[in-house]
Amino acid sequence: MTYDPNNVFAKILRGEIPCNKVYEDEHVLAFHDINPQTPVHILVIPKGAYESFDDFSAKASDAEIAGFVRAVGKITRDQGLVADGYRILANTGRNAHQEVPHFHMHIFAGKDLGRMIKPANK
Ligand code: 5GP
Repeated sequence: MTYDPNNVFAKILRGEIPCNKVYEDEHVLAFHDINPQTPVHILVIPKGAYESFDDFSAKASDAEIAGFVRAVGKITRDQGLVADGYRILANTGRNAHQEVPHFHMHIFAGKDLGRMIKPANK
């Protein structure tokens, strides 16, 4: 699949649409989800053009991958989420209902999140 440069997160990275920014560095941008599912719902995205976790894990440089992981950890610490805990999640592809085709990690926090995911119909 070819990366779609007109996806909404690519537009946010180019400054064409606004976001409520939480963190930014050389490799990463993080911002609040426009439709939060939990009291804290942050999205972390790489600045590079990767459509999914699969794409990112296969093609990103070691520096981009390390930078991304370090950034997620830093954001959760800086936002005070570690003591009570949080969940990170990356929907990947059709079965996971990935809506935006630019790799993003969700950070959910701010309440008891329940166990894992709801059992799906098998
Ligand atoms: P996905 O289902 O792809 O894992 O999640 C996409 C997420 O992006 C959703 O939680 C949705 O609310 C969020 N989102 C979609 N468009 C925008 C936007 O324009 N701004 C922000 N901040 N979040 C968005």
